[in-house]
Amino acid sequence: DLTQLRQLQPYLWSFPLRPGEKRAEVLLYGTAPLLASMDDKVLEQIGNVASLPGLAGAAMTMPDAHWGYGFPIGGVAAFDAEQGGVISAGGVGFDISCGIRCLRSNLDLHDATPGLTALADILFRAIPAGVGEEGDIKLNPAQLDQVLQDGAHWAVRQGYGNTADLEYIEERGRVAGAIPDNVSELAKKRQRGEMGTLGSGNHYLEVQVVERIHDEDAASAFGLHEGQIIISIHCGSRGLGHQIGTDYLIMLAKAASRLGLPNRELACAPIKSPEGRQYIGAMNAAINCALANRQILTHLTRIACAKAYPHAELETLFDVSHNTCKVETHEINGKDRLLHVHRKGATRAFGPGHAMLPERYRAVGQPVVIGGSMGTGSYILAGASGNQAFASSSHGAGRAMSRNKASARWQGRELISKLAQQGILIRSRSMRGVAEEAPSAYKDVDLVAEATEQAGLARRVAFLRPKVCIKG
Ligand code: 5GP
Ligand code: MN
Ligand code: MN
Repeated sequence: DLTQLRQLQPYLWSFPLRPGEKRAEVLLYGTAPLLASMDDKVLEQIGNVASLPGLAGAAMTMPDAHWGYGFPIGGVAAFDAEQGGVISAGGVGFDISCGIRCLRSNLDLHDATPGLTALADILFRAIPAGVGEEGDIKLNPAQLDQVLQDGAHWAVRQGYGNTADLEYIEERGRVAGAIPDNVSELAKKRQRGEMGTLGSGNHYLEVQVVERIHDEDAASAFGLHEGQIIISIHCGSRGLGHQIGTDYLIMLAKAASRLGLPNRELACAPIKSPEGRQYIGAMNAAINCALANRQILTHLTRIACAKAYPHAELETLFDVSHNTCKVETHEINGKDRLLHVHRKGATRAFGPGHAMLPERYRAVGQPVVIGGSMGTGSYILAGASGNQAFASSSHGAGRAMSRNKASARWQGRELISKLAQQGILIRSRSMRGVAEEAPSAYKDVDLVAEATEQAGLARRVAFLRPKVCIKG
């Protein structure tokens, strides 16, 4: 409901305080039509976030924001530990470090087309997908603890992929501060057979073609050109991350109620409290789990791709997470502050020149991926200068309709044959899952990407059209 908002700039809005209300500022990025289509629950949720202690600057939503558990998806909030700032499990999301690994290939659509059906079938056999689906890798407890410490580095040591991949993963493939001991036995048990699996629902492995270049310089730095085949892998920390989310929601809710903080969906604890620290150690372990998982899937994808195209080569373009809390330095009112930046359904988007970027991309900014849907398309963008929203960006088109509504409206089989007529091959074990993921259940990705650029969050670099989608 736009009448509740005040427009500050063409792509930036604020949610004014109601009489008697005490909270920090709420800023919403996006266009009038995008914000009008946003569920009202988002405003309520981000308003709650803005009431938490130790918030630095404003609580913000990205142009793709929609309702989530506690925090909205597409929410960004940074907290200062020195000022009583909190960490929230709901502000990270259940699928900790869910994200997208983007691979660029040496294949062009023209040469790849005759082999696409074979590729779809090979990938579908090679990539374990679906609820609770296990892969070929079974880890003992000590091995799993190594994964949680070393992330993608563990995977590369085991022969999954190569060291060149590591350079192009956020945090170079491993975050510091992981404490495997803070992860429950149940969470670990759930994960022992789930390394190298895609998961279900919204997760996908998609073969795409670069259909349009928006920014030649950034595209050339990213190694992208029109007609090129790209593979994007969207998944997270699987059973382990979800179990950590469940475990800690309960623990943080207890801590929050003891401290008089919001203790239902928003359950949080001060960063400096024992519970806060404990969650952060477990969350970092889950981030490493997700980075290792996408590294193994990258390896499986390379093998599958080489079966369909013997000369195929896949290089990691980037691996970006969109459910995290990360410790970063940001300038507020001319002062550098160390902050815990929650990005839930939002990606980091460092601008040109950022010291943490790989040298190859430093001049143009961090690669950012906005997934759209299996029937429409996706965008690769580059982080903009200006450090808007603590250097964050949209991560998807965002849901326009609930899973239940979508599965009542569409039939999986019908969608698959319709998409096949448009040259898009879908492979999935779950027809209900396909229906829930109907392209029309998502917002218009073109509008979201455009708004993301106009709002100064990230610049569009390339538009990708789906050719093959393995749905979880
Ligand atoms: P989330 O991580 O929030 O579940 O999903 C991120 C985004 O991925 C969604 O907002 C949606 O726009 C996009 N998405 C969901 N399914 C697909 C798919 O099959 N293919 C592509 N390219 N994007 C998708
Ligand atoms: Mn996920
Ligand atoms: Mn995701």
